[in-house]
Amino acid sequence: MIHHVPLRPPSRDFPADEWNVIEKGFHPEFLAQLETMLALGNGYLGMRGCPEEGGPTTENATLINGFYETRPIVYAEEAYGFAKTGQTILNVTDSKIIKLFVDDEPFWLPHANLLRYDRRLNMKSSTLDREILWETPAGKQVLITSRRLVSFANRHVAAISYNVTLLNTAASLVISSEMAADEPSTFTDANDPRQTRIFAGRVLHHRTSYAKDRRIVLCHATEKSRLTLTCATDHALETSCPHAHKVSYTEDFGQVAFTIDARPDSPIHLTKYMVYHTSQTASAEELCGRAEWTLDRVTTHGFQPLLSSQEQYMDDFWSRSDVRISDIREERTKRSTVEIQQAVRFNLFHILQASARAEDTGVPAKGLTGQAYEGHYFWDTETYLLPFLIYTSPRIAKNLLTFRHKMLPQARARARQLGHRGAMFPWRTISGEEASAYYAAGTAQYHINADIMYALRKYVQATGDEAFLQDCGAEMLVETARLWLSLGFYSDAKGGKFCVNSVTGPDEYNTVVNNNAYTNLMARENLRYAAQTVEALRATDPDAYNALVHKTALEPSEVEGWIKAAQSMYVPYDEKLKIIPQDDSFLDREPWDFRNTPRDHYPLLLFYHPLNIYRKQVIKQADVVLAMFLLGDVFSAEEKKRNFEFYDPLTTGDSSLSSCVEAIIAAQVGDIGKAIRYGVAALLMDLADVGGNVKDGCHIASMGGTWMMLTYGLGGMRDDDGMLSFWPRRAPEDNAILRFPVTYRGQVLDVEIGLEKVEYTLREGKSLVIRHETEEIRLTRENPVAVRAVSQG
Ligand code: BGC
Repeated sequence: MIHHVPLRPPSRDFPADEWNVIEKGFHPEFLAQLETMLALGNGYLGMRGCPEEGGPTTENATLINGFYETRPIVYAEEAYGFAKTGQTILNVTDSKIIKLFVDDEPFWLPHANLLRYDRRLNMKSSTLDREILWETPAGKQVLITSRRLVSFANRHVAAISYNVTLLNTAASLVISSEMAADEPSTFTDANDPRQTRIFAGRVLHHRTSYAKDRRIVLCHATEKSRLTLTCATDHALETSCPHAHKVSYTEDFGQVAFTIDARPDSPIHLTKYMVYHTSQTASAEELCGRAEWTLDRVTTHGFQPLLSSQEQYMDDFWSRSDVRISDIREERTKRSTVEIQQAVRFNLFHILQASARAEDTGVPAKGLTGQAYEGHYFWDTETYLLPFLIYTSPRIAKNLLTFRHKMLPQARARARQLGHRGAMFPWRTISGEEASAYYAAGTAQYHINADIMYALRKYVQATGDEAFLQDCGAEMLVETARLWLSLGFYSDAKGGKFCVNSVTGPDEYNTVVNNNAYTNLMARENLRYAAQTVEALRATDPDAYNALVHKTALEPSEVEGWIKAAQSMYVPYDEKLKIIPQDDSFLDREPWDFRNTPRDHYPLLLFYHPLNIYRKQVIKQADVVLAMFLLGDVFSAEEKKRNFEFYDPLTTGDSSLSSCVEAIIAAQVGDIGKAIRYGVAALLMDLADVGGNVKDGCHIASMGGTWMMLTYGLGGMRDDDGMLSFWPRRAPEDNAILRFPVTYRGQVLDVEIGLEKVEYTLREGKSLVIRHETEEIRLTRENPVAVRAVSQG
């Protein structure tokens, strides 16, 4: 069900463009949304899209993935095992401020007479560019252009090329390049549980600050999480105009002020280099030293090489990841082909920005575009992002799975604390410890353990990385299989079936339920994969098997237990409706009164007490419908149709994780109208602010879901049985042409689904076997292309 009407800024000033997100004219009413949409990041460092002048802004955040402070979680009523320590990503030192004064007149967007204003996020080369022509109150015309980047090649580096030219007369200029630490956060809404927590008092404590020529170094540390941050800036000024500079700094502030006697038509080029280093172990001195090395290197080479390496990185990314779509029927989508293409790229671009250099960390739910959800990592990463990364940037996928593996000690401890065997991954975390303060919609989501293992299997199948499976994967499989076995039991009341009680599935509007179908189905996969992996190791690689036994104290009999539990797994079924009930009690509930729910009362979680929601048949996000997508081969076409028709009207889509999945299943069951509506909503989730909360950050999971929608959904891609196959189907009235690359076992395949034919081209690699519907196709270097017909239907 779709409740929300997509909003969109007036298109004249936000023209659609395939490679850019463009803002023409200054629009203070969209400040917050644009700060998110135009944010730059590399997975380690993120900067919201605020103007160089430091404002106006709604939340001028600079974020470092995994840089957080802890706080005690205060419960009015405590209970055993509740998470004790909250973790919150911090707004760190803002280094990108550049203020301009012309004859002492400050350039300040809301008051400025702007003769030209053009700001664009260039997604092709990953820069934020701005061009402004300002007329001062005294009639002086000043051209200001800037280009900002957060480097992919060097994750510690960001830079701004800032240029000022007086067009009609001379003037005295001051360009004040500043940095500010421990700025108070304005980003919170006490009534919205999705937003971040604010700390009272200081969080970044001063360690050291100093300046050298045009370089300033500020170093701060957190108290409880014991993390240290050094932020350092350096500058290069090029101009033929006479100039001087003055440097000053305090504990939390640094400034290099250039005073320039500017002549007309004599451009002034300032390059600002910004460097961030963080550590839990290095001392302040050491970290400052590292920041200075980085600055030495980048200032020696200059801005151009940074830009070139950025372009190269992006070229490589797009060649492996770009999904192109053309000739869509615009009267059906109500969006132009250009708008759709722009949205597709915008989503993929932000996934890269959220994950590319996430090394030893996860991916926050909002990436590094905002502080909502406190910078926490959820199942979003494995279920929604990893498929895209596995098939386009497997190295990034591996980093993220490796990070999960590193969490095993905490996951084992958490399982012990809750009286389980094995390992229990946290529902939300930065440090590896559970940080969910509301267990019903948090810790109870045991399904995250199976979700991670599901992603592991996809990764191993698509890459053939058996070494990772042996070294890290198998250990996680053993521990998660143990968790399921100790969590569930053989229930007499259910005919001796293996049941899992008191869990919450993906749908957070039905919590702490018995036998959530999604959870049981995914747990079954987890148990089977664990058994398969352990048995294969035992049979083929005794050394690896012994190492695993050593690491996990595995008893051979355990594997039999997993197989038996998987075989006996209880999956609810309702004979009358012929559907899979979401859980044991779902069908007993009274349906939600949608008719009398005001349109502005969504998301329900902001307007109704949880109890009002929990006792009704109402769903936040795809749950059984998600299982039908992830485990597509477990359900027949009729089952999918019946279940979709039952669940869709009850699904509010109050979570952005829903629309993309609903779109895929709607298409599979032949409801093309709904598939298009959900599909467009998912594609435009952030660009058109479908959920009304883009100001808080991008919906990174939904962005990953849009790639699944295009490839698995439209492209009919399947990988359930370990072989890459495609079942592209075309509705009779559909004209769209879809092209996308897939990296599979180190080779690159280009898929083009045209009107009547599908073309498979092996772009990189020697030989690849894929399946088109039921037919096997061998692509080789000699015969890299195969063409097949598209089926209608
Ligand atoms: C969704 C979760 C998701 C979280 C972070 C919640 O609203 O219900 O499934 O993991 O947001 O994106």
